[in-house]
Amino acid sequence: MTLVFATNNEHKLSEVRAILPESVSLLSLNDIGCHHELPETGLTLEHNSQEKAEYVFKWVKKHISNTDIYCFADDTGMQIDALNGEPGVYTARYAGEPIDNNRNMDKVLRLLNGNTNRSACFRTIITLFTPNATIQQFEGRIDGEIATEKHGQRGFGYDQIFIPHINNNSLTFAQMTENEKNSISHRARAMKKLEEYLTTIINPLV
Ligand code: IMP
Repeated sequence: MTLVFATNNEHKLSEVRAILPESVSLLSLNDIGCHHELPETGLTLEHNSQEKAEYVFKWVKKHISNTDIYCFADDTGMQIDALNGEPGVYTARYAGEPIDNNRNMDKVLRLLNGNTNRSACFRTIITLFTPNATIQQFEGRIDGEIATEKHGQRGFGYDQIFIPHINNNSLTFAQMTENEKNSISHRARAMKKLEEYLTTIINPLV
């Protein structure tokens, strides 16, 4: 099976390669020669995930002769209860352009300053296009809370201020090892569902 992941992010590509069956050949946007910026015009993660996957699906149909290619895209957002679900689809650019993780986290800490309701979650929506344009979506979610200050050095994005709720944990994502984070993260949970679905296609009798 050939599977195109609508990204060039090496971190995401290696995370997915690690969980997919070896028989799946995973290609990035660079691998297929698609160097366009993907559209993200919607107000929901579901919309944007599907929009990106559909763009790449159409690109593949137009430019690649192998008609048996699967395509998928992911879209992730953090949702904070006390901010009515913000930053949501604006997670990457919450403090404006250019993207700056520190300014994004500082904005969240400032908006929540003094607020005891710090509940939040990360959600990832994956949209898969099969070769005959059937669409499947998979959601991965991790609930947690926003710390009162930054802790830890690892990871990226909002990792220094997000404390996942799992087994009485009090560490931020940035204080966890990559393996610890990847075993519980929103993206890993969505990827796992994608992997289970693809396995039923590759081995329909399993
Ligand atoms: P994307 O849809 O995967 O590009 O994610 C959008 C934004 O969400 C990123 O730019 C990060 O700011 C944030 N984000 C996504 N995944 C994570 C994560 O695992 N930890 C912290 N922040 C994340």
